Amino acid sequence: MKASKQRILLLGPPASGKGTQADHLSRAFGIPHVSTGALLRSECARGTPLGIEADSWTSRGLLVPDELAVRVITAWMAGNGPRFLFDGFPRTTGQAEHLDKALDAAKTPIELVIFLDLSEEEIRRRILDRLTCAACGTTFGGSLHGMKIGDACPSCGGDLIRRNDDTEEALTERLRVYRESTLPVVTYYQDKAPGIFHKINAGEESDTIFKKLSALVCGEMQKEK
Ligand code: AMP
Repeated sequence: MKASKQRILLLGPPASGKGTQADHLSRAFGIPHVSTGALLRSECARGTPLGIEADSWTSRGLLVPDELAVRVITAWMAGNGPRFLFDGFPRTTGQAEHLDKALDAAKTPIELVIFLDLSEEEIRRRILDRLTCAACGTTFGGSLHGMKIGDACPSCGGDLIRRNDDTEEALTERLRVYRESTLPVVTYYQDKAPGIFHKINAGEESDTIFKKLSALVCGEMQKEK
């Protein structure tokens, strides 16, 4: 299959599968995938001033300031072409406006916005069970896969850890921030670009979701009700 959409946003709450699906789509269609959360975690792991500042927000379940998020994504865009799959950006309407302005100026507008929708009950269940590979970032459902903290990642052998914001306390805050700051981004694109906006039920099987997303990327699927 050939991608007809080259600039794609994946929006959705924590644990809606944005990262996993973006990774699959990136491999299938060769579109570069970038997660602002992963970029910030990598800065933090390297101990850069930006990473240390970001961690003071992320560890509490808060968004980093727009200026910081825009800075990391702008640096990424400068080193990559006008093709991307963004996972976790934009997360505020301020970031969305900034992104649209930059893309309009370059005459490379967004071509597809996908909102992965998931109930809060399922978000909680997934996050509190989630294990993440410290080396490659792949995530696993601990109880689903019979894995625990400290096990080796089946993909790369790295250590499986619990992210420091995948805790009950940080999650409550992340969900509040999601409702207050990120859901308005969903409305922003739904209103501004209804023709390219699609909502997908993220509670379905991962393979089913991937097929739907692939069809959207190829321009072959109509809107879900
Ligand atoms: P994620 O890996 O997407 O769950 O992001 C982890 C954390 O990184 C979030 O809870 C925020 O603290 C921070 N973060 C990621 N992307 C953004 C963004 N676009 N704007 C502000 N903060 C972000």
